[in-house]
Amino acid sequence: MTKWVYGFGDGAAEGGAEMRNLLGGKGANLAEMCNLGLPVPPGYSITTELCAHYTDNGKRFPDDLKGQVEAALRGVETAVGARFGDAECPLLLSVRSGARVSMPGMMDTVLNLGLNDATVAGLAARSGDARFAQDSYRRFIQMYGDVVLGVDHYHFEDLLEAHKDDCGVTLDTELTAEDLQALIVLFKDKVATETSTPFPQDPDAQLWGAISAVFGSWQTARAVTYRRLNDIPEEWGTAVNIQAMVFGNMGEDCATGVAFTRDPSTGENSFYGEYLINAQGEDVVAGIRTPQRLTIRGKELIGASQPAMEEVMPEVFAQLEGIRGQLERHYRDMQDIEFTVQRGKLWMLQTRDGKRTTAAAIKIAVDMANAGLIDRKTAVSRIDPASLDQLLHPTLDPDAERVIFARGLPASPGAACGRVVFSADEAETLAGQGEAVILVRLETSPEDIHGMHAAKGILTARGGMTSHAAVVARGMGRPCVAGAGEIRIDYQAGEMRVRDATIRAGDIITIDGAAGEVIRGAVPTIEPMLSEDFGTLMKWADEFRRLGVRTNAETAEEVATALRFGAEGIGLSRTEHMFFDADRIVAMREMIVAEDETGRRAALDKILPMQRADFAELFRLMKGLPVTIRLLDPPLHEFLPKGEAEIAAVAAAAGVSVERVRRRALRLEETNPMLGHRGCRLAITYPEICEMQARAIFEAAVTVSEEFGAAVEPEIMVPLIATRREFDILKAIIDRVAEDVGAERGTRPRYLVGTMIELPRAALRAGDIAQSAEFFSFGTNDLTQTVYGISRDDSASFLDDYQDAGIFDCDPFVSIDEEGVGELIRIAIERGRAARPGLKMGICGEHGGDPASVNFCHRIGLDYVSCSPYRVPIARLAAAQAAIADET
Ligand code: ADP
Ligand code: MG
Ligand code: MG
Repeated sequence: MTKWVYGFGDGAAEGGAEMRNLLGGKGANLAEMCNLGLPVPPGYSITTELCAHYTDNGKRFPDDLKGQVEAALRGVETAVGARFGDAECPLLLSVRSGARVSMPGMMDTVLNLGLNDATVAGLAARSGDARFAQDSYRRFIQMYGDVVLGVDHYHFEDLLEAHKDDCGVTLDTELTAEDLQALIVLFKDKVATETSTPFPQDPDAQLWGAISAVFGSWQTARAVTYRRLNDIPEEWGTAVNIQAMVFGNMGEDCATGVAFTRDPSTGENSFYGEYLINAQGEDVVAGIRTPQRLTIRGKELIGASQPAMEEVMPEVFAQLEGIRGQLERHYRDMQDIEFTVQRGKLWMLQTRDGKRTTAAAIKIAVDMANAGLIDRKTAVSRIDPASLDQLLHPTLDPDAERVIFARGLPASPGAACGRVVFSADEAETLAGQGEAVILVRLETSPEDIHGMHAAKGILTARGGMTSHAAVVARGMGRPCVAGAGEIRIDYQAGEMRVRDATIRAGDIITIDGAAGEVIRGAVPTIEPMLSEDFGTLMKWADEFRRLGVRTNAETAEEVATALRFGAEGIGLSRTEHMFFDADRIVAMREMIVAEDETGRRAALDKILPMQRADFAELFRLMKGLPVTIRLLDPPLHEFLPKGEAEIAAVAAAAGVSVERVRRRALRLEETNPMLGHRGCRLAITYPEICEMQARAIFEAAVTVSEEFGAAVEPEIMVPLIATRREFDILKAIIDRVAEDVGAERGTRPRYLVGTMIELPRAALRAGDIAQSAEFFSFGTNDLTQTVYGISRDDSASFLDDYQDAGIFDCDPFVSIDEEGVGELIRIAIERGRAARPGLKMGICGEHGGDPASVNFCHRIGLDYVSCSPYRVPIARLAAAQAAIADET
């Protein structure tokens, strides 16, 4: 017999935190909290294994399940002292889903299950509160109707609103027991007409309906989307948690709330949460009533007028504060908890590791390591390297003028600017066309996930700091302003208003998620301030990593950014990128379209001083750190003059006719420039280009060496070689120029000459090439392109299909293809090092900043990765994590 059901309650449980795969995160943690002796209403979990069984067997349950569920239910009845379906003393249940990892809002919860026309009277009698009983019943019909029977919640909300009007009240809480009873009749009628069946009165039928609905919800579109976005395997499945209800809606000494044990936006070590008096379940997060703060400090921070829980229920608050500490010490991580207070008694309903912003994640990890809760390796391993992106990018310039349109809660920090859209679908469509969009909603719900993901930022008119929008936005790293209550949104008209100011769909706005501001138009940005904790964490990371981290940079600005982010050298400086400036590109074009050596040399003479100055600046900025300079590798088509004006400018500079330039440009045009006359091939045909560049490098090196009083040793890198012979020809030129410059300047420059390995043939012939080359740098962009035979400029049109068809797990231009491209790199490393022991090797493709690829580079024993400046910290952290993972 398979054990499908695991009970918990009364200070003991059959499961525990280590059983999360089987019981789901929620079930495992409920069991764990019981084991810790915390007050948890008794209940039981049906395992995730049953989810797969249910899906695979045509949505049928195994025969031995029923008996196990009934036995567990009897246990809960005994613990609570009530009976399921009993008209006198009914036990009510909550039915919740819970997968292995938390999928916020993905799966639906049904509360108050077991109520019907008979048991509602029992509940009223036992609690002595008829209003509460009727309110619970109408909530149950609404939730069950929506989640299990598929009657959309707006049907019920419309009825509720109309009914409140009829009764002449504005708040739900003002409805009397009789008002609610009348509403229940309307709700049941609605269910009967929508589903052609009466609302189920049999509690057993209700229970099995809810269990099926939870398992069925694993397959809903929104759950599938969330899994796809978060790489959660289909097979994991969800568990079902069935638990005795506790009631936060039994009067003024009752409440329900959610909290984080630390501030999830900043990471500050202060209790952070919200609660509502006389409310149930999702009321706090649904954004229908504005929740109150837990702590006095939290209340004061936002200048709220409503009292904090700390003031209203000091004893319960103190108990909760104690549990906060206990949970953190036990789980050694920040927790996201849910609780309910029933007639002054506290009940814990959930705990899990809390979602947090990257800034908060770093502060929490550093604080916990400093407090001895975790060690430094754990702290370093806890931060998702890719998420650092959130911190490193520019934020709004505080001195720039801001035309404030509205204010809301600072729900998720960061600044975002884009066009206003009012629906998730539209957000996805426009973002797909490359538009930056801000998704504006009254409030968000799980159906909006895809739009939130596509948007640069999120703005809602309703909801608090723990609303769906806020929690999801923080998790995704999207800036979010929530609960901007002064905004009136009109979906129909496609506009939002604050008093007489209007913003329409398509207008540009900026949101500042740290300040809670909604600003008209685009606001200029500045470089972010990196926190001390960030510095500390990165320092720890550097102590653990073995891989070096360099940057791909050519301009002073890029170099400055990379150095600030901790780059240890330049791994790739693309000399052709130094010619994108308007005044330089003409000289470059002149050189490219020159018809003979004399013409080319004339153009190169103009270029030489520019290059020399560029290199000297690089050497000065890098202060003796290694600098790899790649010889010219211009994809010709990017540099050919296009249009009359450009052609005329080149003709004038070269002193030849427009007609000649045009003809020459036409002749140079290639069918397949990526495989054309580029890389070292250019210098093979026109050695004077290589000569000029070598001279510029050496002259700059000698000059800066003199300034420093220490030798600058450039690493000169030859691109796109396929054969050793190509390399030898160019190396001979470089060596000769070094002799010349040495003779002219009185000191022979010191340097290395190495090569890119970016063609399959070069990788295979690495042993031969390493006889001459003094270092290797894997150019994984071109290597991926040539290994797959897929042009990186043309792959966008079919890449999605390849991913959908499961041919690619991910874009091979983003994350290195370990099996194919990786195999070639392994071969090259092995053969290269066999020929030249100690040969220095790195990688300089876009992959150098991709955490998974960095991990691969560590495993195959490269010396360093080189990536774009903003990715340097990501690479440092990923390298540290790879090294830490190695040890364990
Ligand atoms: P989610 O995963 O979306 O957070 P939950 O499973 O936590 O959903 O359930 C939603 C809400 O239902 C909880 O916040 C809690 O307030 C309420 N709830 C769940 N179980 C019970 C219970 N046994 N008694 C009272 N309220 C409950
Ligand atoms: Mg929920
Ligand atoms: Mg919850």
